[in-house]
Amino acid sequence: MKKMDIFELTKSLMNVPSVSGDEEAVGSNLRDYLRLLGWTVELQAVSENQNNVIAYLNDTPRVWFSTHMDTVPPFIPPTEDDEKIYGRGACDAKGIIAAQVTAAEQLRKEGIEDIGLLYTVEEERSSTGAKAANSHPLAAKCEYMINGEPTDNDLAIGSKGTFRLKIHTSGKAAHSAYPEMGDSAIEKLLDILEDVRRTKFPNDDFFGDTTLNIGTIEGGTALNVIPPKAEAGLAIRLTTKSQPIEDALMSLIRGRAEVEVLSCSEPVRMLEVEGFKQKVVRFTTDIPYLTNWGQPLLLGPGSILVAHTKDEFVLKKDLEEAVGLYVNLVKHLLTTEPRRAQS
Ligand SMILES: [Zn+2]
Repeated sequence: MKKMDIFELTKSLMNVPSVSGDEEAVGSNLRDYLRLLGWTVELQAVSENQNNVIAYLNDTPRVWFSTHMDTVPPFIPPTEDDEKIYGRGACDAKGIIAAQVTAAEQLRKEGIEDIGLLYTVEEERSSTGAKAANSHPLAAKCEYMINGEPTDNDLAIGSKGTFRLKIHTSGKAAHSAYPEMGDSAIEKLLDILEDVRRTKFPNDDFFGDTTLNIGTIEGGTALNVIPPKAEAGLAIRLTTKSQPIEDALMSLIRGRAEVEVLSCSEPVRMLEVEGFKQKVVRFTTDIPYLTNWGQPLLLGPGSILVAHTKDEFVLKKDLEEAVGLYVNLVKHLLTTEPRRAQS
Protein backbone atom coordinates (compact mmCIF):
# COMPACT_ATOMS: atom_id res chain seq x y z
CA MET A 1 0.00 0.00 0.00
CA LYS A 2 1.28 3.47 -0.91
CA LYS A 3 0.10 7.07 -0.58
CA MET A 4 -2.69 7.87 -3.02
CA ASP A 5 -3.99 11.08 -4.54
CA ILE A 6 -7.69 11.91 -4.20
CA PHE A 7 -8.73 10.15 -7.42
CA GLU A 8 -6.69 7.03 -6.68
CA LEU A 9 -8.11 6.88 -3.17
CA THR A 10 -11.69 7.28 -4.46
CA LYS A 11 -11.23 4.43 -6.96
CA SER A 12 -9.42 2.21 -4.47
CA LEU A 13 -12.33 2.54 -1.99
CA MET A 14 -14.85 1.98 -4.81
CA ASN A 15 -13.04 -1.18 -5.90
CA VAL A 16 -14.02 -2.90 -2.65
CA PRO A 17 -17.75 -3.79 -2.63
CA SER A 18 -19.46 -2.53 0.55
CA VAL A 19 -23.21 -2.84 0.16
CA SER A 20 -24.78 -2.28 3.62
CA GLY A 21 -23.97 -5.28 5.83
CA ASP A 22 -20.75 -6.05 3.92
CA GLU A 23 -18.47 -3.19 5.00
CA GLU A 24 -15.75 -5.22 6.74
CA ALA A 25 -13.23 -5.27 3.87
CA VAL A 26 -13.51 -1.61 2.94
CA GLY A 27 -13.22 -0.70 6.64
CA SER A 28 -10.01 -2.65 7.15
CA ASN A 29 -8.54 -1.22 3.93
CA LEU A 30 -9.32 2.28 5.15
CA ARG A 31 -7.85 1.51 8.59
CA ASP A 32 -4.63 0.23 7.02
CA TYR A 33 -4.37 3.24 4.73
CA LEU A 34 -4.91 5.77 7.53
CA ARG A 35 -2.34 3.95 9.69
CA LEU A 36 0.12 4.17 6.81
CA LEU A 37 -0.46 7.93 6.78
CA GLY A 38 0.26 8.03 10.52
CA TRP A 39 -3.21 8.26 12.06
CA THR A 40 -4.26 6.46 15.23
CA VAL A 41 -7.11 4.22 14.05
CA GLU A 42 -9.72 2.21 15.96
CA LEU A 43 -12.35 -0.15 14.65
CA GLN A 44 -15.57 0.20 16.65
CA ALA A 45 -17.65 -2.99 16.54
CA VAL A 46 -21.26 -2.38 15.46
CA SER A 47 -22.26 -5.98 14.72
CA GLU A 48 -20.38 -9.25 14.33
CA ASN A 49 -18.86 -8.24 10.98
CA GLN A 50 -19.48 -4.50 10.84
CA ASN A 51 -17.09 -1.89 12.25
CA ASN A 52 -16.99 1.89 12.22
CA VAL A 53 -13.57 3.36 11.46
CA ILE A 54 -12.49 6.06 13.93
CA ALA A 55 -9.19 7.91 13.36
CA TYR A 56 -7.48 10.87 15.00
CA LEU A 57 -4.20 12.70 15.34
CA ASN A 58 -4.44 14.05 18.89
CA ASP A 59 -6.41 12.75 21.93
CA THR A 60 -9.23 15.30 21.83
CA PRO A 61 -10.06 16.49 18.33
CA ARG A 62 -12.53 19.41 18.28
CA VAL A 63 -13.52 19.02 14.62
CA TRP A 64 -14.46 15.75 12.97
CA PHE A 65 -15.22 14.70 9.43
CA SER A 66 -17.69 11.87 8.92
CA THR A 67 -19.63 9.99 6.30
CA HIS A 68 -20.56 6.36 5.61
CA MET A 69 -18.66 3.47 4.04
CA ASP A 70 -21.68 1.42 2.93
CA THR A 71 -23.44 1.78 -0.41
CA VAL A 72 -26.77 0.80 -1.87
CA PRO A 73 -26.77 -2.29 -4.13
CA PRO A 74 -25.69 -3.32 -6.68
CA PHE A 75 -21.88 -3.01 -6.70
CA ILE A 76 -20.73 -1.14 -9.82
CA PRO A 77 -16.92 -1.10 -10.25
CA PRO A 78 -15.26 2.25 -10.93
CA THR A 79 -14.46 3.61 -14.39
CA GLU A 80 -13.29 7.08 -15.36
CA ASP A 81 -12.64 9.58 -18.09
CA ASP A 82 -10.93 12.98 -17.96
CA GLU A 83 -13.86 14.64 -16.20
CA LYS A 84 -15.59 12.05 -14.06
CA ILE A 85 -15.30 8.93 -11.94
CA TYR A 86 -18.27 6.59 -12.46
CA GLY A 87 -19.57 3.69 -10.37
CA ARG A 88 -21.11 2.80 -7.02
CA GLY A 89 -19.97 5.07 -4.23
CA ALA A 90 -18.45 7.69 -6.57
CA CYS A 91 -20.43 10.43 -4.84
CA ASP A 92 -22.28 8.45 -2.14
CA ALA A 93 -19.95 8.42 -0.35
CA LYS A 94 -16.47 7.07 -1.20
CA GLY A 95 -15.42 10.16 -3.16
CA ILE A 96 -16.40 12.10 -0.05
CA ILE A 97 -14.19 9.92 2.19
CA ALA A 98 -11.30 10.56 -0.21
CA ALA A 99 -11.94 14.33 -0.20
CA GLN A 100 -12.13 14.43 3.61
CA VAL A 101 -8.95 12.37 4.09
CA THR A 102 -7.14 14.57 1.55
CA ALA A 103 -8.37 17.74 3.32
CA ALA A 104 -7.35 16.36 6.71
CA GLU A 105 -3.86 15.56 5.39
CA GLN A 106 -3.55 19.08 3.99
CA LEU A 107 -4.57 20.60 7.34
CA ARG A 108 -2.10 18.37 9.08
CA LYS A 109 0.69 19.60 6.80
CA GLU A 110 -0.23 23.12 7.92
CA GLY A 111 0.12 22.05 11.56
CA ILE A 112 -3.61 21.65 12.33
CA GLU A 113 -4.07 18.34 14.13
CA ASP A 114 -7.35 19.03 15.93
CA ILE A 115 -9.17 16.70 13.51
CA GLY A 116 -10.84 13.30 13.70
CA LEU A 117 -12.38 10.99 11.09
CA LEU A 118 -15.50 8.88 11.64
CA TYR A 119 -16.62 6.46 8.93
CA THR A 120 -19.80 4.53 9.67
CA VAL A 121 -21.52 1.37 8.48
CA GLU A 122 -25.19 0.85 7.64
CA GLU A 123 -26.14 4.48 6.87
CA GLU A 124 -28.14 3.40 3.83
CA ARG A 125 -30.39 1.18 5.95
CA SER A 126 -30.84 1.94 9.63
CA SER A 127 -27.82 4.01 10.74
CA THR A 128 -26.81 1.42 13.35
CA GLY A 129 -23.20 2.54 12.75
CA ALA A 130 -24.02 6.13 13.69
CA LYS A 131 -26.09 4.97 16.67
CA ALA A 132 -23.10 2.98 17.97
CA ALA A 133 -20.71 5.86 17.27
CA ASN A 134 -22.89 8.15 19.36
CA SER A 135 -21.73 6.43 22.55
CA HIS A 136 -18.02 6.62 21.69
CA PRO A 137 -16.08 8.50 24.43
CA LEU A 138 -14.45 10.89 21.91
CA ALA A 139 -17.89 12.27 20.99
CA ALA A 140 -17.95 14.37 24.15
CA LYS A 141 -14.78 16.20 23.09
CA CYS A 142 -16.07 16.98 19.59
CA GLU A 143 -17.36 20.52 19.00
CA TYR A 144 -18.16 20.34 15.27
CA MET A 145 -19.07 17.35 13.13
CA ILE A 146 -18.72 17.95 9.37
CA ASN A 147 -20.79 15.19 7.78
CA GLY A 148 -20.40 14.47 4.09
CA GLU A 149 -23.21 13.63 1.68
CA PRO A 150 -23.57 14.81 -1.92
CA THR A 151 -24.73 18.45 -1.56
CA ASP A 152 -23.10 19.77 -4.78
CA ASN A 153 -20.46 21.28 -2.50
CA ASP A 154 -23.03 23.63 -0.95
CA LEU A 155 -23.27 23.90 2.82
CA ALA A 156 -26.55 22.23 3.78
CA ILE A 157 -28.09 24.17 6.67
CA GLY A 158 -31.12 21.93 6.98
CA SER A 159 -32.08 18.38 6.07
CA LYS A 160 -35.56 16.93 6.04
CA GLY A 161 -36.51 14.09 8.35
CA THR A 162 -37.91 10.75 7.24
CA PHE A 163 -40.86 8.84 8.66
CA ARG A 164 -41.12 5.29 7.29
CA LEU A 165 -44.13 3.16 8.05
CA LYS A 166 -46.20 0.22 6.86
CA ILE A 167 -49.98 0.03 6.83
CA HIS A 168 -51.39 -3.49 7.21
CA THR A 169 -55.05 -4.27 6.51
CA SER A 170 -56.79 -7.56 7.08
CA GLY A 171 -60.09 -8.95 5.88
CA LYS A 172 -61.65 -12.33 5.27
CA ALA A 173 -60.96 -14.67 2.35
CA ALA A 174 -63.89 -15.96 0.29
CA HIS A 175 -64.73 -17.18 -3.23
CA SER A 176 -64.65 -14.11 -5.49
CA ALA A 177 -68.07 -15.06 -6.93
CA TYR A 178 -69.54 -14.61 -3.43
CA PRO A 179 -67.94 -11.33 -2.26
CA GLU A 180 -70.61 -10.86 0.40
CA MET A 181 -69.08 -13.85 2.22
CA GLY A 182 -65.66 -12.14 2.52
CA ASP A 183 -64.07 -8.83 3.38
CA SER A 184 -61.45 -7.36 1.02
CA ALA A 185 -58.21 -6.21 2.66
CA ILE A 186 -57.14 -4.60 -0.64
CA GLU A 187 -60.25 -2.43 -0.90
CA LYS A 188 -59.75 -1.30 2.71
CA LEU A 189 -56.14 -0.46 1.94
CA LEU A 190 -57.07 1.48 -1.22
CA ASP A 191 -59.59 3.56 0.76
CA ILE A 192 -56.99 4.36 3.40
CA LEU A 193 -54.34 5.23 0.80
CA GLU A 194 -56.81 7.52 -0.95
CA ASP A 195 -57.42 9.33 2.36
CA VAL A 196 -53.66 9.54 2.96
CA ARG A 197 -53.14 11.02 -0.52
CA ARG A 198 -55.79 13.68 0.14
CA THR A 199 -54.23 14.66 3.47
CA LYS A 200 -52.61 18.10 3.56
CA PHE A 201 -49.44 17.72 5.60
CA PRO A 202 -47.94 20.83 7.18
CA ASN A 203 -45.12 22.57 5.29
CA ASP A 204 -42.37 24.71 6.76
CA ASP A 205 -40.94 28.04 5.57
CA PHE A 206 -37.38 26.90 6.19
CA PHE A 207 -37.48 23.19 5.28
CA GLY A 208 -40.05 23.39 2.46
CA ASP A 209 -42.81 20.92 1.58
CA THR A 210 -43.62 17.68 3.38
CA THR A 211 -43.77 15.00 0.69
CA LEU A 212 -45.19 11.49 0.66
CA ASN A 213 -44.22 8.42 -1.33
CA ILE A 214 -46.35 5.29 -1.34
CA GLY A 215 -43.38 3.11 -2.26
CA THR A 216 -44.64 -0.44 -1.96
CA ILE A 217 -47.99 -2.18 -2.12
CA GLU A 218 -48.67 -5.88 -1.71
CA GLY A 219 -51.59 -8.13 -1.01
CA GLY A 220 -54.02 -10.78 -2.08
CA THR A 221 -53.56 -14.42 -3.02
CA ALA A 222 -55.31 -15.04 -6.37
CA LEU A 223 -57.69 -13.37 -8.84
CA ASN A 224 -60.62 -15.45 -7.70
CA VAL A 225 -60.12 -15.00 -3.96
CA ILE A 226 -61.29 -12.05 -1.86
CA PRO A 227 -57.97 -10.85 -0.43
CA PRO A 228 -57.54 -11.45 3.31
CA LYS A 229 -54.35 -9.38 3.69
CA ALA A 230 -52.71 -6.30 2.15
CA GLU A 231 -50.00 -3.83 3.06
CA ALA A 232 -48.44 -0.62 1.80
CA GLY A 233 -45.09 1.00 2.65
CA LEU A 234 -44.86 4.78 2.95
CA ALA A 235 -41.99 7.23 3.30
CA ILE A 236 -42.80 10.77 4.37
CA ARG A 237 -40.10 13.45 4.06
CA LEU A 238 -40.65 15.55 7.15
CA THR A 239 -40.32 19.31 7.39
CA THR A 240 -41.92 19.56 10.83
CA LYS A 241 -41.75 17.45 13.98
CA SER A 242 -42.94 13.89 13.36
CA GLN A 243 -45.41 13.51 16.23
CA PRO A 244 -48.27 15.66 14.81
CA ILE A 245 -47.93 13.84 11.48
CA GLU A 246 -48.01 10.45 13.16
CA ASP A 247 -51.07 11.55 15.18
CA ALA A 248 -52.83 12.81 12.02
CA LEU A 249 -52.18 9.51 10.24
CA MET A 250 -53.42 7.49 13.21
CA SER A 251 -56.66 9.44 13.46
CA LEU A 252 -57.17 9.16 9.69
CA ILE A 253 -56.73 5.38 9.81
CA ARG A 254 -58.86 5.06 12.95
CA GLY A 255 -58.80 1.33 13.57
CA ARG A 256 -59.14 0.42 9.88
CA ALA A 257 -55.57 -0.93 9.76
CA GLU A 258 -52.47 -1.62 11.77
CA VAL A 259 -49.65 0.87 11.50
CA GLU A 260 -46.07 -0.35 11.84
CA VAL A 261 -43.53 2.44 12.34
CA LEU A 262 -40.24 1.36 10.69
CA SER A 263 -38.12 4.40 11.50
CA CYS A 264 -38.40 8.06 12.20
CA SER A 265 -35.80 10.82 12.09
CA GLU A 266 -36.68 14.46 12.70
CA PRO A 267 -35.67 17.32 10.40
CA VAL A 268 -32.34 18.83 11.47
CA ARG A 269 -30.99 22.37 11.29
CA MET A 270 -27.27 22.70 10.89
CA LEU A 271 -24.70 25.44 11.32
CA GLU A 272 -24.63 28.42 9.01
CA VAL A 273 -21.14 29.58 8.13
CA GLU A 274 -20.43 32.86 6.37
CA GLY A 275 -18.82 32.66 2.96
CA PHE A 276 -20.37 29.33 1.97
CA LYS A 277 -23.26 28.81 -0.46
CA GLN A 278 -26.10 27.41 1.68
CA LYS A 279 -29.25 25.39 1.08
CA VAL A 280 -31.76 22.93 2.56
CA VAL A 281 -31.55 19.32 1.36
CA ARG A 282 -34.43 16.86 1.22
CA PHE A 283 -32.62 13.68 2.17
CA THR A 284 -31.74 12.25 5.58
CA THR A 285 -28.22 11.49 6.84
CA ASP A 286 -26.49 9.95 9.86
CA ILE A 287 -26.65 13.35 11.59
CA PRO A 288 -29.91 12.79 13.56
CA TYR A 289 -28.15 9.84 15.27
CA LEU A 290 -24.88 11.67 16.01
CA THR A 291 -26.35 13.99 18.63
CA ASN A 292 -23.37 13.68 21.01
CA TRP A 293 -20.88 14.79 18.35
CA GLY A 294 -21.12 18.56 18.69
CA GLN A 295 -22.78 20.90 16.21
CA PRO A 296 -23.48 19.30 12.84
CA LEU A 297 -22.54 20.65 9.43
CA LEU A 298 -23.18 18.98 6.08
CA LEU A 299 -21.23 19.40 2.84
CA GLY A 300 -19.96 17.10 0.12
CA PRO A 301 -19.11 16.85 -3.59
CA GLY A 302 -21.48 15.27 -6.10
CA SER A 303 -25.22 15.27 -6.68
CA ILE A 304 -27.82 13.37 -4.68
CA LEU A 305 -29.76 13.06 -7.96
CA VAL A 306 -27.26 10.51 -9.33
CA ALA A 307 -26.62 8.77 -5.99
CA HIS A 308 -28.42 5.39 -5.77
CA THR A 309 -28.68 5.20 -9.60
CA LYS A 310 -26.82 3.00 -12.09
CA ASP A 311 -25.28 6.19 -13.51
CA GLU A 312 -23.69 7.36 -10.26
CA PHE A 313 -20.65 9.58 -10.86
CA VAL A 314 -18.66 12.43 -9.37
CA LEU A 315 -16.89 15.23 -11.23
CA LYS A 316 -13.17 15.20 -10.56
CA LYS A 317 -13.15 18.98 -10.27
CA ASP A 318 -15.87 18.75 -7.59
CA LEU A 319 -13.73 16.33 -5.58
CA GLU A 320 -10.83 18.77 -5.73
CA GLU A 321 -13.05 21.72 -4.90
CA ALA A 322 -14.43 19.84 -1.88
CA VAL A 323 -10.92 19.51 -0.44
CA GLY A 324 -10.50 23.30 -0.45
CA LEU A 325 -13.96 23.81 1.06
CA TYR A 326 -13.33 21.28 3.84
CA VAL A 327 -9.96 22.88 4.65
CA ASN A 328 -11.52 26.36 4.83
CA LEU A 329 -14.46 25.11 6.86
CA VAL A 330 -12.21 23.51 9.49
CA LYS A 331 -10.04 26.62 9.74
CA HIS A 332 -13.16 28.78 10.11
CA LEU A 333 -14.61 26.53 12.83
CA LEU A 334 -11.36 26.44 14.79
CA THR A 335 -10.85 30.20 14.69
CA THR A 336 -14.30 31.84 14.77
CA GLU A 337 -17.63 31.19 16.41
CA PRO A 338 -20.19 30.43 13.67
CA ARG A 339 -23.87 30.96 14.30
CA ARG A 340 -26.52 28.28 14.42
CA ALA A 341 -29.36 28.43 11.89
CA GLN A 342 -32.16 30.59 13.34
CA SER A 343 -35.57 29.09 13.80
ZN1 LIG B 1 -24.99 8.77 1.46
